[in-house]
Amino acid sequence: MSFEQLGLSIDLLRAISEQGYKKPTPIQEQAIPAILNGSDVMGGAQTGTGKTASFTLPMLRRLEVYANNSMSPAKHPVRALILVPTRELAVQVYESVRTYARYLPLRATVVFGGVNIDAQIEAVRFGIEILVATPGRLLDHLQQKTLSLSKVEILILDEADRMLDMGFLPDIKQIVQILPEERQNLMFSATFSGEIKKLANKILKKPVLIEVAKQNSVSEMITHVVHPIESCRKQELLIFLIEQKELQQVLIFTRTKQGADRLAQYLNRHNISSAALHGDRNQLQRSQALESFKNGLTRVLVATDVAARGLDIDELSYVINFELPNTAEDYIHRIGRTGRAGTKGVAISLVCQEESKLLAGIEKLLKAKIKIEEISEFEATKQQLQSVKSNALIEEKKIKRTNSSSNRIKQPSLIKQNKAATVDFKNEVITKKNHHMEKSEDPLFTQPYISKFSHVQANQIENEKLIERNMLHRRRYGYSNKPLPALFIPSVMNKQKLEG
Ligand code: AMP
Repeated sequence: MSFEQLGLSIDLLRAISEQGYKKPTPIQEQAIPAILNGSDVMGGAQTGTGKTASFTLPMLRRLEVYANNSMSPAKHPVRALILVPTRELAVQVYESVRTYARYLPLRATVVFGGVNIDAQIEAVRFGIEILVATPGRLLDHLQQKTLSLSKVEILILDEADRMLDMGFLPDIKQIVQILPEERQNLMFSATFSGEIKKLANKILKKPVLIEVAKQNSVSEMITHVVHPIESCRKQELLIFLIEQKELQQVLIFTRTKQGADRLAQYLNRHNISSAALHGDRNQLQRSQALESFKNGLTRVLVATDVAARGLDIDELSYVINFELPNTAEDYIHRIGRTGRAGTKGVAISLVCQEESKLLAGIEKLLKAKIKIEEISEFEATKQQLQSVKSNALIEEKKIKRTNSSSNRIKQPSLIKQNKAATVDFKNEVITKKNHHMEKSEDPLFTQPYISKFSHVQANQIENEKLIERNMLHRRRYGYSNKPLPALFIPSVMNKQKLEG
């Protein structure tokens, strides 16, 4: 099938061909005609399947009748609302809308939290047909009456499962209540939990169900490898792998925000340019981290699961799990950043003994054993290696037994892990809401300070030595594990400054 057969307009086809798309992806083939028909749609698709275009293109086609060049804001009411869970996804979707609407006089803007609201108020004031928003910030706008949703005809919930995970359900309910009754609803989700089905039942009317890849399916282009390692040697092994494989662009996952900060800081100290991406970094820091990684200025992006969700980074060959995720489903999301659009990818996991249970859960979900490869320089003792392997085996057996004992309660251990993960996400949201900044979350604790001034640069090595010594001291005397501030100017330098 070609795009021409899908019923899109010439202006849209032109924009598509400029993107170099040869033919629609499976989700586009199915979703575009259904949406053009005016049906509600429930789409099961992950990032990387072309799902953004699958709802943006028909949405634009349906809004084309309203395209006009009038200067009056009244001629440009919000007709389509796209709700997304994260700021990064908001920007990505907004960019897609801009790209595909290039030849249409339709206006779009994006609103999300973590940045000053004034510029957004200004953008909305002139009138826009398409609004991409994160739920929290949209409610801020609605409370301040800076925009109206009374003319919305199309509501799109993208990555609905992640929105629920992040605790946005009350916000979504509030927003849906103020929308006109008569509207088209589209919902996209990577997974179909009971909660998602409940939300779909509330919002969608007789939806067309579209599921492209099997739930939790993984690209066959990805090679999975596990390196068994003691947890205290993970950082060392990571540097070894980055250098040995000469990795120039690698996405690394940690379980916690503090862990991401600590690891990015450690890599920077070892001359591997790194940035951390997680929910407690402000919008500017997050955008900068992502941009510099995409542009190749930063070699490593260390991310948490929530922050990395929905990231579209082209040609990423390596994803490294510094720690395995709490849920096996998150492993699928993580490694989905590589092996895209027919390219090969490698997913490396550094696994210590304590993580063997998680590994077993992942293998169960993948329905395959992951190759365990020892690095001779980091050879685990035979006992440790055996322990990772056999624990994984025992866990797998346990899961099998529980599964066969009841078909009604599926994968109890995974459900439990899922709940734990949900609590984690909620905590992340709560922490964000409280604006509680721990010392280790300060940006200065993540990136080493590299001054533009040569006299400061000259002291960088000394600076690093001092930090290293201090860390050693802390470790030895059992002080807190929190990283030291990167902006750590040794007294020598201060003296020089005074003298200079
Ligand atoms: P998404 O699943 O929306 O995150 O899209 C993933 C990537 O696929 C994006 O970089 C899109 O630009 C790209 N893409 C979308 N549709 C197509 C298509 N029909 N052919 C090739 N690439 C596409």
